[in-house]
Amino acid sequence: MQETAPKLKEFQTYIDGKWAGAQSGKTFETFNPYTGEPWALIPECGPEDAALAVEAAARAFETGPWPSLTATARGKALRRIAGLIEKHAGHLAEIEVRDNGKLISEMLAQTKYLPEWFYYYGGLADKIQGAVVPVDRPEHFNYILREPVGVCAFIIPWNSPLMLAGWKLAPALAAGCTVVIKPSEYTSASLLEFMRLVIAEADIPPGVVNVVTGYGAVAGEALVTHPKVAKVAFTGGTVTGARVNELAAKTFKKVSLELGGKSPNIVFDDCIMDDAVSGAISGIFAATGQTCIAGSRLLVQESIHDVFVEKLVAMARQAKLGDPSQFETQVGPVTTPPQYRKVLSYIDIAKGEGATCVLGGGPASKEEGGGTYFVKPTIFTGVDNKMRIAQEEVFGPVLSVIKFKDEDGAVRIANDIAYGLGAGVWTQSVKRAHNMARRIKAGTVWVNTYRAVSFLMPFGGYKASGLGRENGIEAIDGYLQSKSVWINNGPGGGNPFIMKTAS
Ligand code: NAD
Repeated sequence: MQETAPKLKEFQTYIDGKWAGAQSGKTFETFNPYTGEPWALIPECGPEDAALAVEAAARAFETGPWPSLTATARGKALRRIAGLIEKHAGHLAEIEVRDNGKLISEMLAQTKYLPEWFYYYGGLADKIQGAVVPVDRPEHFNYILREPVGVCAFIIPWNSPLMLAGWKLAPALAAGCTVVIKPSEYTSASLLEFMRLVIAEADIPPGVVNVVTGYGAVAGEALVTHPKVAKVAFTGGTVTGARVNELAAKTFKKVSLELGGKSPNIVFDDCIMDDAVSGAISGIFAATGQTCIAGSRLLVQESIHDVFVEKLVAMARQAKLGDPSQFETQVGPVTTPPQYRKVLSYIDIAKGEGATCVLGGGPASKEEGGGTYFVKPTIFTGVDNKMRIAQEEVFGPVLSVIKFKDEDGAVRIANDIAYGLGAGVWTQSVKRAHNMARRIKAGTVWVNTYRAVSFLMPFGGYKASGLGRENGIEAIDGYLQSKSVWINNGPGGGNPFIMKTAS
């Protein structure tokens, strides 16, 4: 009997409050990285779909119910979104596990925490205040209005699509903007489910939040170059970020960029060793190393290097590879075929550069709990910070261990890199902790913890890791602009030919 291929689920885009395919009728398959099998079809949108979405967002920004909502009512809308995410957290997590292979335990933690962003920025919506300025002119009444920037385009990567879209969406909606989101072509499903179960149910007016699926160079560029887009919020690779920044500059869009990293996780000999070992392992092997803040350069003080590495390898060796939908699994697959090839090629590069592979170092077979796109947790020692394996982002389960002598040496190595996203410090010395936090050039420094994030704490990069900050109060500034209003309550308009500077 001939086997019939399982029918693929067909997703649609969400533009102007309506569900539809791409205008071209084209679709592409999305894969389950654990099985390597396609499981759904995603609309392959082109510039015409992107334009429809931007026009819908522009209409929703200018007219209709959204701009006439009070800030307090916008806040309530955000709280409705939060409640619906809470209700559907389990389902949204399962969809993302199927589409990007992240562990169910990590995904559930993400979807259960995501509502906090909408509660927090929902609460901030009616606390966006302007100011009255005692301007240096008699009989003037001057004030500053804070207004939403307008239509925002969000470009999202594949590693944490819902969370990274949520980090942008909550402050943008709180500010009064409207939005078009383009998820990665590898992981569009969770965001489309989010639109169906959350946005469409939360009584958000049509056009306020739209999703355009498709390839970066086509659908993504169409959004980034559209004249009616006022702001681009991009998360992804540094090379793509540079291209997006360049394109957006042509029409003077505001841009925020959350880019790559090569974060130092620094272990001093006065650390609590077992805590530092766990922190080093979760820093690189959680999410299969596919996280921008992966602690991919492990800097270990030379006085404890050998004993630390021994403990590290012993613990990492026990990692349970397997099906990401099972709670006991600790390391899942690499999400995309190109990423899988890239990770393996960096393992070869490290070997070629003379680093010593003390764990892993290649694909993980089915017998080892692996399968289609699995790479064994890999540790290299003897890495010099000048090597490519130390300088370039791998975005996979590959750790480079680098020795250092003292605090100055650690700072020098930590900062000798193009990136500046995160850094970890493991020490029991309060003085050293604060000194290191001050001296490291990165957007986040964790001491005796690693990879913690919160809606309350700004997140973003120094140097090539990005522009702007997400999370915390300042994130909302990225979706607002100031307008200065001058009211002359005195007589006359002054000399028409001379600029009115302070007298
Ligand atoms: P990527 O840069 O390949 O793609 C990101 C997004 O950009 C995708 O939606 C893609 O379709 C789109 N895109 C690609 N080319 C484009 C173009 N020319 N114009 C407009 N859009 C385009 O990144 P990825 O492989 O999906 O994600 C991994 C990268 O993301 C890593 O470098 C990682 O460090 C980074 N990342 C950064 C953060 C952060 O907050 N700093 C968070 C997660 C991931």
